[in-house]
Amino acid sequence: MSWSPNVHTYDAVLVRTSPWGERDRLTVLFEATHGILRARAISALESGSKLAPLLVAPALGRFTLARGRSPIPVLANVELTERLARWRAIGLSIRVAGVALAVLEGLDAPEETNRLFFQLSTDLLRSNPSVHPLSALAVFLVHALGILGLLGGETNCSLCGTAFTADIIAAAPDLRTFICARCFNRLYGKAEVSVILVNREHLELLHRMAITPLSESGRLELDTDALSFIFSLACARLDNILPGAVSALLPLTAAACRT
Ligand SMILES: [Zn+2]
Repeated sequence: MSWSPNVHTYDAVLVRTSPWGERDRLTVLFEATHGILRARAISALESGSKLAPLLVAPALGRFTLARGRSPIPVLANVELTERLARWRAIGLSIRVAGVALAVLEGLDAPEETNRLFFQLSTDLLRSNPSVHPLSALAVFLVHALGILGLLGGETNCSLCGTAFTADIIAAAPDLRTFICARCFNRLYGKAEVSVILVNREHLELLHRMAITPLSESGRLELDTDALSFIFSLACARLDNILPGAVSALLPLTAAACRT
């Protein structure tokens, strides 16, 4: 293809495709600096399309976009570098990948944040989903919360400021903030409230996960209780920001509670 200022090639994650009219497909990509990019794959719904078999998410590749008069560029060429078929093979894997892709699709972030999420999601997608996929997702989510500035404030009571110590149980009504047992009792007494009780181990786990690379998530040996704590925390804190990711995560939160 001859050089043109309106043609650019991007290394990107293939996030999703969906039908566009009768013949084409809308392709959603995530690139390290621009974040979400959308392109129209012409005739990708037609039989014999060369693009169609390449447009199965998730995948990593080089995508060439040609910008014309339409606000959405045309997908001119696709060169897949990793097909990531293993993420589509098992029921649980595809749901884990679905959460990560929904996080990417929902992001509306500055360049530096996009770069961190590109790295984080490609680390997840390059890992082996048949080994601890839920642990990998939990580490992905803790890192995602950290990048978005939604972690922190878990070392002191948000009401009285007392540092959490081994003998104090923190209780979080919606997991957005953590409070000490004394403040909890003062607020709720013996009243029946819907809360998730959090203990010191949960908080230590959270800090440990924040410094654990995704490739080592299996070593954390997260049990059901730990997974359901992390997933609930992520659901509560991402609720307003990434509703699509929360919808994808909720069924897994329930699954973590069952296992
Ligand atoms: Zn307190």
